[in-house]
Amino acid sequence: MAPHSYMHVRESLLKARSFQTPVKSGPILIRSFVPLLSCTLIVSSVTAVGTAQSAAVEHAKSPVVIVITLDGFPARALKDPRLPMPVLRALASQGATADAMIPINPTVTWPNHTTIVTGVDASQHHVVANGLIDLPADGSPLRVEPWVQKDQLVHARTLYEAATEKGLTTAQVDWVAIYGARGVRWQFGERPDIHDQISQDLVAGGILRREDIEHFGENSSPAWRDEVWTDAAVDIIQHHTSNLLLLHLLQTDTIQHEYAPLTPAAYAAYAYADQCLGRVVEAVRDAGIADRTTFFVLSDHGFTTYTHTISPNVALVEQGLIHKDGLSNKGDVWVKAEGGAAELFIRNPARRAELLPKLKAYFSGLSGIQGVYTNAEARALGIPSEADTNQAPQLYLTAAGDYAFSDDLTGSLTRQNPPAGAHGYSNTMPDMQALFVASGTAVKPGVRLGTISNLRVAPTIAKILNVSLPDAEAAPLNEFLR
Ligand SMILES: [Zn+2]
Repeated sequence: MAPHSYMHVRESLLKARSFQTPVKSGPILIRSFVPLLSCTLIVSSVTAVGTAQSAAVEHAKSPVVIVITLDGFPARALKDPRLPMPVLRALASQGATADAMIPINPTVTWPNHTTIVTGVDASQHHVVANGLIDLPADGSPLRVEPWVQKDQLVHARTLYEAATEKGLTTAQVDWVAIYGARGVRWQFGERPDIHDQISQDLVAGGILRREDIEHFGENSSPAWRDEVWTDAAVDIIQHHTSNLLLLHLLQTDTIQHEYAPLTPAAYAAYAYADQCLGRVVEAVRDAGIADRTTFFVLSDHGFTTYTHTISPNVALVEQGLIHKDGLSNKGDVWVKAEGGAAELFIRNPARRAELLPKLKAYFSGLSGIQGVYTNAEARALGIPSEADTNQAPQLYLTAAGDYAFSDDLTGSLTRQNPPAGAHGYSNTMPDMQALFVASGTAVKPGVRLGTISNLRVAPTIAKILNVSLPDAEAAPLNEFLR
């Protein structure tokens, strides 16, 4: 695909669209969105009467909740008075915001997105990585498989299942741990399917070409994917109006991994996420559903900067616990790195009793490692029990600040690296704290929450939608609900 010719196609399409987001002019965007939001959220009922469309009239009384996650957006960034995110600021000032939202352990994308829709931690939903950890019986390396059926991965009731049982409609765009899920009416996934209705809408509307969807992840930039995911969310809002829409924007994570949080590159990514957010807010207003819509703008975890890498598998090779077997490697023990956390699995059951105390003592003595927890000890951190799932590690390792784990088998055990970004660290680390902003019809304006747990998000959404999540035991955030 010739990028330049494609850009021209896209520009003309943007001009042809009914909404007039001023995509090219930052200052105009900032000036125009703030009054737009005030209009949307304060005098929304007046706006809705004037612009209600037939789809909105059909379900005129049922609530709409839109959850937007800005992957890895750190809570501390919102404290910067010069953060270039006018849409997020307007939503926060007109709704409720938390100083910080505590993620669950591990502070990793899929486990926390799953908590946001279930209200339970990894000890109950069993998602401890960005997919299912594949543990080959022959001692081959561990692999994380993302494309597994949701029912195989997530062992907890979700908001979209609860909503569907109540006769409400649900939608997801780039949400995770949701592949093949029942109860999702409209979707445009991380790996979109050309046969889905939303894909068909986007092609029919001239917004995407068929080949863009068929080769979605190939040679495309993170910013382009966020733009398309926003297109899909706008299509769902304007043409299908689901009661629950889950939208996951990812570029903030990609850029912060590469360039570290709160850097000039990260600020550009935050600003772009805000533009996507603005398009979603505007779509809600244009669809005439602002008077029954509540937004949750969240992140799954924060981010920190590190300049040292630890590769635990290098130590396992040195200790003879991983060895060459032809062209591949076989091990009695493997470690799966998740940035600031690492999960150690003893694959040879005959050696478990002998190796567990030795490895705990060894890794506890390494500089750059903050904590080494047996499975029994890690239960207090919300890590699942070995008795419940094979996803539960025998040892759970957390890195100290400025260190991150890697899966490497070769090279030095610890090495320096240029500044980069990571997450996965203990959920008590201040840098790991996540974003929480709620705004819209169900939210009292001007509420400032202190520090809250992300376990409280799903019960709050369940209350707004009037659906039941019996296993989500944390209290809803009644402090800000009207
Ligand atoms: Zn993430």
